[in-house]
Amino acid sequence: MNPENCKTLGEKLAKNIIEQFGTQNVSQLCQIAQINIRYESWNPVTLGEFDRKNNTICVNLLAKINHKEIITHELGHYFIHKEGIILSRNDEEIVVNSFTTFFTE
Ligand SMILES: [Zn+2]
Repeated sequence: MNPENCKTLGEKLAKNIIEQFGTQNVSQLCQIAQINIRYESWNPVTLGEFDRKNNTICVNLLAKINHKEIITHELGHYFIHKEGIILSRNDEEIVVNSFTTFFTE
């Protein structure tokens, strides 16, 4: 997919979620969508992970960036998978990065 289409998809997804859940706030959204947040430390290859089996976002405590930013990012991956959208790894990152701009902490 071209990058512009990825951005548009991220925007559409974000707007649907905001309408569906009635909030742009990430903490509220995690509560309503019943997504657990787990804080762990692992060798800092990644900042965060989404554990699909347990509906849990894992935040790497060793990450040197704001944890809410990590949660918002993983939330993007969560909703892409929930909607059954299949993308290449690169495209998915572009969609997620567009998605995150619509949310607040
Ligand atoms: Zn990502």
